[in-house]
Amino acid sequence: MSSGPSDLDLEFDRQHIWHPYESMRKPTPVYPVASARGVRLTLADGRELIDGMSSWWSVIHGYNHPVLNRAAREQISLMPHVMFGGLTHAPGIRLAQRLVDMTPGDLDRVFFSDSGSVAVEVAIKMALQYWRARGIKGRTRLLTIRRGYYGDTFQAMSVCDPVTGMHHLFSGVVQEQLFADAPRVPYGESWDPADLEPLRELARRHHEEIAAVILEPIVQGAGGMRFYHPEYLKGARELCDRHGILLIADEIATGFGRSGELFACEHAGVVPDIMCVGKALTGGYMSLAATLARGHVAEAISSAGGAAGVLMHGPTFMANPLACAVANASVELLLGSPWRKRVARVARELRRGLAPCRELPQVADVRVLGAIGVVEMRKPVDIALTQRRLVERGVWARPFGKLIYLMPAYVMTNSDLRQLCAAVCETAALEPA
Ligand SMILES: *Cc1c(COP(=O)(O)O)cnc(C)c1O
Repeated sequence: MSSGPSDLDLEFDRQHIWHPYESMRKPTPVYPVASARGVRLTLADGRELIDGMSSWWSVIHGYNHPVLNRAAREQISLMPHVMFGGLTHAPGIRLAQRLVDMTPGDLDRVFFSDSGSVAVEVAIKMALQYWRARGIKGRTRLLTIRRGYYGDTFQAMSVCDPVTGMHHLFSGVVQEQLFADAPRVPYGESWDPADLEPLRELARRHHEEIAAVILEPIVQGAGGMRFYHPEYLKGARELCDRHGILLIADEIATGFGRSGELFACEHAGVVPDIMCVGKALTGGYMSLAATLARGHVAEAISSAGGAAGVLMHGPTFMANPLACAVANASVELLLGSPWRKRVARVARELRRGLAPCRELPQVADVRVLGAIGVVEMRKPVDIALTQRRLVERGVWARPFGKLIYLMPAYVMTNSDLRQLCAAVCETAALEPA
C-alpha cells in the first residue's frame, strides 16, 4: 500500500495533532515524510532531502541501516518487550556491560529509562536520594549554568535556561534552582580562570543546600548551541569535589562521538558522579535512555536500608529489549567504525562549507565542534520561511531562535555535506540584514 500525498490528511494533522513546541491555532507547516534511507528523507511528494539534523542528534549511522534493521527483526521475533521488574534479559545486560565499559571512569551502575528527560529526572532523583540517605536534609537544590537544556519534564525544566526555557510560564511551580552565567570562553580559545568565577561564587555561598551541579559537558545544545572550554568543566569538577557536591553530566546530545570524543566529558578528562545518555543510544531507531552512576552514589542510596534504600523509579518500558537490542547493534557499529576519523572529516567539511557564511552581514558567528555546525544569525529567523527555503534547496534543517545548525550522520559523504552547507549559506544570505 503506497501512501501518496492524497492519502495524507494534513488538515487533520493541523487541527488535531500537537507538534513540538507548537501552537494549535497557527502551527508552522509540517512536511510529510514517506521514508528515509541513509542520509536522505523522501517526502510524500517524492522530493528527496539531505538530512542535516539526524533527527535531533540521534540517527548517527543514517536511516534504515541494514545492521540495525536486522537486530530489530531478530529481537522482535524473540521478545519485543517484557517487564523489567523481577525479570531480566540478555539485551539489557549486554547493553549495560557496554555502557559501563565505554563511559568514562568508574561509572558502573546503570538505570534504563525511556527518554532523555526521564534519564535526567532519574539522575536528579539519585542525587536527592543520595543526600537523604546520608541523613542530610538540606541539600535539595541544583546548581547549573544559563543557556542549558535538559529536557521538558518538570525537574529537567527547572534547570533549563530560565529565558529560553520560559520559566515565567511555570513560576511558582518549577523549583527555583541556582544559575551561574553561561561560560564565556569558547572551546579552542585561550582559557581564562575568571570564566569560572560565577559558578565558584554560587557553589561557595550555597553549597550547604546544593545536591548536585548539572551540566551539559562542553556543548550546550538546545539552549543555544554553544561550545565551552574544557577547563571550565574541569573547574566544575574541582568545585564539586571541594564542596562535596555531586556532578551530573547530561551527555544525551553529546554522547556517542558527536563532539569528537566518545563522550564530551573526555575533552576535559572529567568523570561525573552521574551521567545521562539517550538520543543516539539506539542510533535513532527508538526511544531509550540510561542514567549511569558511580558506585559511591549507588551505595549511599542503598545504605538507607529497607524501603528507603531503593531507588524510587521503574518505568513500564524500562530496558525495553527491542530498544536494547538495537542499541547494542548501534554501539557495536559505532565502536567498530572509524568514528573518530569520520567525525573529524565531517567537522572539516562543515568548517569549510559554512565559512562563506562568516562574510554575511546577517551572520553573528559560525562555529563547528565535531559533527556539529552552527550559524548564529544576528536576528531570530522566521522558522517557516527559512525552513521552506532549505527544503527548496533539497536539504532538511530545523532552525530555532537565531540559529541555523547542522548535525549530520557521521557517514554523510563530502559532496552531500557540501550541498548541505551551501544551502545553509544561501538561505542565511536571504535573511533580512
Ligand atoms: C534532547 C535532550 C534531552 C531530553 O531528551 P528527550 O529524549 O527529548 O526527553 C535532555 N538533555 C539534553 C542535553 C538533550 O539534548
